[in-house]
Amino acid sequence: MSENLVAIFLGRQAAFGEKPAIVWRDAPLIDFAGLPAMVGRYRAALTALGVKRGDRVMVKTENSPSFVYTYLAVLASGAIFVPMNAAYTAAEVALLIEDAEPALLVHAAATPVPGEDVAPVKRVTLEPDGSGSLPDLALSLAPDLSIEPVASSDLAAILFTSGTTGRPKGAMLSHGNLSSNVAALHEAWHFSSADSILHALPLFHAHGLFVALHLALYNAATLVMLPKFNAADVLARLGQVSVFMGVPTFYARLLAEPAFGRDVCGTIRLFVSGSAPLLPSVFEAFEARTGHRILERYGMTEALMITSNAYAQEGRIAGTVGYPLPGVSLNVVDADRKPLPAGEVGEIEIKGPNLCAGYWRRPEATAESFYADGFFRTGDTGRKDADGRVTIVGRSKDLIISGGFNVYPAEVEILLAEVAGVVDVAVFGVPHPDFGEAVVAAVTVDGANFDVAALEAAAAANLARFKQPKAIHVLPELPRNAMGKVVKTELRKRYGDSFTVQ
Ligand code: ATP
Ligand code: MG
Repeated sequence: MSENLVAIFLGRQAAFGEKPAIVWRDAPLIDFAGLPAMVGRYRAALTALGVKRGDRVMVKTENSPSFVYTYLAVLASGAIFVPMNAAYTAAEVALLIEDAEPALLVHAAATPVPGEDVAPVKRVTLEPDGSGSLPDLALSLAPDLSIEPVASSDLAAILFTSGTTGRPKGAMLSHGNLSSNVAALHEAWHFSSADSILHALPLFHAHGLFVALHLALYNAATLVMLPKFNAADVLARLGQVSVFMGVPTFYARLLAEPAFGRDVCGTIRLFVSGSAPLLPSVFEAFEARTGHRILERYGMTEALMITSNAYAQEGRIAGTVGYPLPGVSLNVVDADRKPLPAGEVGEIEIKGPNLCAGYWRRPEATAESFYADGFFRTGDTGRKDADGRVTIVGRSKDLIISGGFNVYPAEVEILLAEVAGVVDVAVFGVPHPDFGEAVVAAVTVDGANFDVAALEAAAAANLARFKQPKAIHVLPELPRNAMGKVVKTELRKRYGDSFTVQ
């Protein structure tokens, strides 16, 4: 039996022919009976373009149904899917082309890509509206319904990490990584064919591609797709679906809409948040407004989903990421990799069927993070409760050491976020002549309700002196990358000289 993920998806969809697979621009676009032939046409087009098993196919275009067809066709042909962040510049794409050496570059005409002289690679176009030379070719061909048999360890995709802490690294993910993870999520979050998912996450990232899209395809659940997140567009469609998945900024933006409340969430059974920490203040405001507790989970490009809060509403606890998924081992360790007792903060290492094989053409980065015993160093710090529930306290690279004491930015961020008028907050360390590093906060505020003295007073009343921000910067917005993650390297660069240069 083939372990090809596409064969698994299509097999599970076989009984749901009449049901819409994708709703696009508020109308059903394709049903599950039509999906295999559509994927088959794109598969035939890829073959006509010379794509073979094991080749890389790089894709840089916005979300669209054609993106989904292309993805499934690449996997069906045994090739390797390499999506690009749609916001990357031509120079960034040139580096990634050099690195991945794709057999084909699929891109939207308007998206920045390097010229043929800089990056000689075969190209076809794919526009978010479904036009372009790739769909033209696909629709002119008879479907190739064959699906290349693969072993579960064969590569399905190379996904680049978000680049929050440095140059993005390409995680080499196998068919087995992907299929085991979607099966685990299906169980953990009680999915069935009765579900429909509102999808507004970028498809070039693991969260949008491997969590939201995969769950829909695996369960023959209807996918209501949006080109991108916009609070008003989401609000208008929440009443048509049972599940919504987002990054924390989506939830903060929904809460900023006066019309958002209990009545628009009537059909929803599950709101999921991941990719970055969800502030307890947002979790609580969301529950107060809608009656729903957001289910937070923790994952990363290299290992897909790692932990999840328990499914029951009362099992969704603010500020925690829940328990490791079945089959996943998670240890909190000290600098010598010795497991720490419950409650103590250390580095998180994980192992399981979800873990990728390493970084594409980055042997040093792979050797640094992948241990011989199969564990992977996540670069995140956290702790476990006595019953095994995990809390993430930040990234190892963001740990602040001030006056010899460890400061976990998340602890300070959670506290400052509770202060009236504070909308968003990031805490980071900058060099300081006396303390080594000083704690600094950047906040965005609701001007009418904000008073910096109240923020300082809250810090003074609740935090030890070494944890209190030595400077507070009020910004119009925090620097965030495409996944809504705060780029602290940028903040450290911006304010790095605050205490060292007079
Ligand atoms: P890079 O590895 O290139 O620096 P990145 O780590 O942001 O970028 P991703 O793989 O997209 O790239 O993100 C994974 C990281 O996101 C995790 O290691 C963790 O730091 C963070 N993260 C994901 N989910 C959560 C969560 N629920 N709470 C806190 N942090 C989270
Ligand atoms: Mg990372």
